[in-house]
Amino acid sequence: MKMQFDLRQLGRQQKGGSLRDEHVDRTFQPSEFEASVGQDEEYKVAGPVHLELDVHKDGEAYRVTGRVATRLGLECGRCLDPFEIPVESAFELRYVPYVEPASAGKTGEAEDEREVAEDDLTTAFYKEDSIDLGELMHEQFVLALPMKPLCREGCKGLCVHCGTNFNKETCDCAPQWTDPRLAALKGLIKTD
Ligand SMILES: [Zn+2]
Ligand SMILES: [Zn+2]
Repeated sequence: MKMQFDLRQLGRQQKGGSLRDEHVDRTFQPSEFEASVGQDEEYKVAGPVHLELDVHKDGEAYRVTGRVATRLGLECGRCLDPFEIPVESAFELRYVPYVEPASAGKTGEAEDEREVAEDDLTTAFYKEDSIDLGELMHEQFVLALPMKPLCREGCKGLCVHCGTNFNKETCDCAPQWTDPRLAALKGLIKTD
């Protein structure tokens, strides 16, 4: 449970009702993510993860601002080679107590939505007085992933016939003219 942030640290000694802030500065090793990042995830944590955040207690909610930096390992969408990208993302979240869906009345839901709209922050949930930092970082990583992961700009991809990686070598597969539109072109080239 190293990746949990215990919220009970906050507001323990409130002097004159003033609220306390907590600063978190932690570095996680890639191995610590093995359990939380599933095998089917699109990324792997490829370097130490530096997480820095401030937690501010605001009634039952907590405002969390910070940044997370690391390197993520991805697979190229064209040539399937592994590659890494640097990730550094800032976030500002609002944590509210998690409510079991069964007990959340319709009125309560509408109220929540309105509150969220007021300060325009992404809402997350905490359970049992703790924030799941692993989940927080996972969300940030997913948001940072490129739509089309490419190992490099203009990756040449693989030969569809023999699988040769065109970034590294060429192959002897003849260009295929099976597409009828291309076959017509071929005819043009011949007559020329
Ligand atoms: Zn590639
Ligand atoms: Zn080939």
